[in-house]
Amino acid sequence: MKKKIDFQLMAISSVAIFATMILISSVFYELYQSQIIDDLRSYSNLLVESSMVEHMQGSGYTVPADRVRITIMNADGTVWYDNEASSQSLDNHKSRPEVQEALENGEGIAVRHSSTMQKSTFYYARILENGDILRLAREAGSIWSISYSTLPFVVIMVFFLLVICLLVSHFLTKRLISPIEQLAQNLDNMSEITAYEELQPFITMIQEQHKDIMRNAMIRQEFSANVSHELKTPLTSISGYAQLIETGMASDEDVIRFAKGIHANANRLFSLISDTIRLSELDSGEQEVLFGRESLKQLARNCLDMLQFSAEKHKINMNLSGEECSVWGNKQMVEEVLYNLCDNAIRYNNEGGRVDVNIKDLGEHAQLTITDTGIGIPRDAQERIFERFYRVDKSRSKSTGGTGLGLAIVKHITATLGAKISLQSEVGKGTKVTVLFKKNESDK
Ligand code: ATP
Ligand code: MG
Repeated sequence: MKKKIDFQLMAISSVAIFATMILISSVFYELYQSQIIDDLRSYSNLLVESSMVEHMQGSGYTVPADRVRITIMNADGTVWYDNEASSQSLDNHKSRPEVQEALENGEGIAVRHSSTMQKSTFYYARILENGDILRLAREAGSIWSISYSTLPFVVIMVFFLLVICLLVSHFLTKRLISPIEQLAQNLDNMSEITAYEELQPFITMIQEQHKDIMRNAMIRQEFSANVSHELKTPLTSISGYAQLIETGMASDEDVIRFAKGIHANANRLFSLISDTIRLSELDSGEQEVLFGRESLKQLARNCLDMLQFSAEKHKINMNLSGEECSVWGNKQMVEEVLYNLCDNAIRYNNEGGRVDVNIKDLGEHAQLTITDTGIGIPRDAQERIFERFYRVDKSRSKSTGGTGLGLAIVKHITATLGAKISLQSEVGKGTKVTVLFKKNESDK
C-alpha cells in the first residue's frame, strides 16, 4: 500500500510537472513571438519616421545586414531593395502571405519554420505612403529549440521535484499508516497510541470490540474451569462409593447407601451437564428461537403439576392465582423460566412453607410473580445469584442437587425474550421474583 501511494503520488506529480512545463513553454513562446513582431513593427516605424526609406531609394544607401533583414518592393511585388541580397536575384514577393495580408489590411505578419525546425523566421510587412511595401524579417529560435535549450533545467527540476514528492509521500504515508501498524501490534495497550482525528472513531470501535472479545474469552475460560471443577466433585464421590463396594467389605445396608449416593451424584452430574449444554446453546445463539403466543397461566399450571411431587416431598403448599394472560415468546423458554423459579421457591423454602404463583395482565405486559416463604437471600447476594455457579449457601444448594446455573439460564432467556426480571427478598422471610413478559411482538 505504501509503495502504491508513493508511486501514485509520484506519477501525479510528474504529470503535473510536465503539463505545467508544456503550458508555460507555450505561453512563453506566444509572448516571445508577439514581442518579436512588436520589435519589428517599432523598427519599421523608426525606418519610416526617420525617412530612411526615401534615403535608401534616393542614394542607394544600404543598412548593414545585422539581425533584421529589410526588403522593400513595389506594390506588384518586385523587390527593389534588400540589405542582405541583391534585389535583382530575388523573385517576385507578391505571393508571400505577409505581403498579401499587408496589401489587404495595411500590415501583415507571418512566421515560417526552417526545415530542421531549429529556427523560425518572423516576417512583418506594411504598406508605405507611396504604395510600396516594406518587409522586415528576423530569425529566432523555434519553440523546439527554446524548449530544447531549457530541457536540462526542466530535467533537473523534475528530478528535484520527484525527490521532494518521494520524501513527502513517504512522510505522509508513514503518518497515515503508522498508527494502524501500532494498533495491530499493540491491541492490549491502545490508549498509548496517538492517532489523527479521522482515525479516532475506528480506534475506539476496535478498542471496544477487542475488550468485548477479551471479556468473552475470559468468561468462557472461567466457565470451562468452573464446569470442570463442578464435574469433579460428583465424579469423585461416585468413584469413592464404587471403590468401597469393590472391596467386598461393605455390608448389604452400606451397599444400598452407597448406591443411593452414586444415584444422587449421577443425577447431579446429569443436571450439571444438561444445564451447561443449555447455557452453551443460549450463548452460541445459533438455534433459531421461534416466537409465538402462549398462555402464561396454562404453562404455569403445567409447571406446578410437574413440581407437585417435589413440593410434597418438601411439604410445601403451592398455589396458582390470577388471570388468563398470553405472552409473546418461545414456549420452551417460558417453561424454563417458570420451572427454574418455582423449583428455587420450593428448594429454598422451609418445611410447611408456601409458594404463590400469580399472573397479572398489565396491558402491554404480562406480570408473573413467584412468592415464597423461604430462607430469603442476603442483600449483597441478590445481584450475584444470577451469575453462573453462584450459590448463596453452597452446602444447602448442593444437598438439594443445585448447580448454580438455573438463574443464569433464566437471565439469559429473559434477555432473549425481552422480558424484565426483578427480585425482592428478606432473609428469613422469603423471596418474591417478578418477571414482566412482553404480550405483543412489537412491544419493547
Ligand atoms: P440449579 O437451579 O441450577 O439447580 P441452584 O438453584 O443452586 O441450581 P440458581 O437457581 O441459579 O442455582 O440459584 C442460585 C442461588 O440463589 C441458589 O443456590 C440459592 O442460594 C439462591 N436462590 C435462588 N432462588 C432462591 C430463593 N427463592 N430463595 C432463596 N435463595 C434462592
Ligand atoms: Mg435453581
